[in-house]
Amino acid sequence: MVYKTVTLIPGDGVGPELTELTVKCIEATGVKIAWEVVDAGEKALKLEGTPLPKKVLDSIRKNKIALKGPITTPVGTGFRSVNVSLRRELDLYSCLRPCRTYPGVRSRYDKIDLVIVRENTEDLYAGIEFEQGKEATAEIIDQIDKLSGSKIRKDSGVSIKPISIFCTERIVKFAFEYAIKNNRKKVTAVHKANIMKYSDGLFLATARKVAERYPDIKFEDRIVDNMCMQLVQKPELYDVLVLPNLYGDIISDLCAGLIGGLGIAPGANFGDDMVLFEPVHGSAPKYKGLNKSNPTAMILSGVLMLRYLGEEAKADKLENAVSEVIREGKTVTYDLKNSPADPGVAGSKEMAAAIISKIKK
Ligand code: NAD
Repeated sequence: MVYKTVTLIPGDGVGPELTELTVKCIEATGVKIAWEVVDAGEKALKLEGTPLPKKVLDSIRKNKIALKGPITTPVGTGFRSVNVSLRRELDLYSCLRPCRTYPGVRSRYDKIDLVIVRENTEDLYAGIEFEQGKEATAEIIDQIDKLSGSKIRKDSGVSIKPISIFCTERIVKFAFEYAIKNNRKKVTAVHKANIMKYSDGLFLATARKVAERYPDIKFEDRIVDNMCMQLVQKPELYDVLVLPNLYGDIISDLCAGLIGGLGIAPGANFGDDMVLFEPVHGSAPKYKGLNKSNPTAMILSGVLMLRYLGEEAKADKLENAVSEVIREGKTVTYDLKNSPADPGVAGSKEMAAAIISKIKK
């Protein structure tokens, strides 16, 4: 029996409970996986003094594949995002987030079938920040004033937005290659090049050049604010979207909203030879330990993982089981019911058990 070793990071908040249920669902398909469990986030910070211990990175570098629960990032203060650090340290530059409607979800839309491809390593997420009041910040403000002639208020904090040809080329190439492999028809580049001419402008110009190499896939672009409106009004016009980091983050949640919420939106982060699967949602701390949150997003991230491992039949089995449980609507979490107060609302564990029983049928 061949066991594939996969790094497993339970994460924070609802992460550990959803990870445990996801592992059970994946194993119910009969796939043989040896899980190498490592902690990152709040638990690692408490036990090891850092939210991202070296052994986490080493484990992913060795196994080349990881499944991760969400990890909390303190807002405004505290440690920097472990999620962002993982993606940058391991150069997991392509974030893939398929958004499709499963019949039975609570949504204003049906038949949504969009794919978000988000650049993961640069843009305002690069972590190049200058804190208000610091000496380096005063220096950078002086330099910018001198070099650009623009006036930044002295009491500002500053975040830098780098966008390169190298990173844009590889993310747009990833989007087109994905489109070809998955029989998609169109790639739309999303930007704000009318205002940020040298960062988003470069993204758009580079995307156009890459698109020339793929004459069989239609290419177009949209300004991000217009894109938001278009996605709400006529999402059926779009197929694969490729975006710089920050817009990708925001539009991912918008698209999760189109398909019924964060509870069902899966994701994956690809590097050249490594991949990390994780749901789009965060650690939802208010639901921690309550057996309340929807395990679907994490289970569907497991489906993406099975497909990546070449286990198509097992992936289909798991995805069909999830789809069937959602369609029946009998054993689903609060977010898939018309009202969270519905007496028929199931817990995370019960929903996962229903999925497992469908797999075993
Ligand atoms: P969140 O995604 O954790 O939760 C937002 C809301 O979405 C929740 O209040 C809940 O109503 C709903 N929701 C999320 N997951 C759900 C699920 N599985 N089932 C049902 N409903 C669900 O976003 P947030 O509150 O902005 O962030 C909480 C923490 O998570 C923050 O520290 C943030 O930095 C972190 N975060 C981590 C990741 C990641 O690990 N990749 C991603 C996003 C946010």
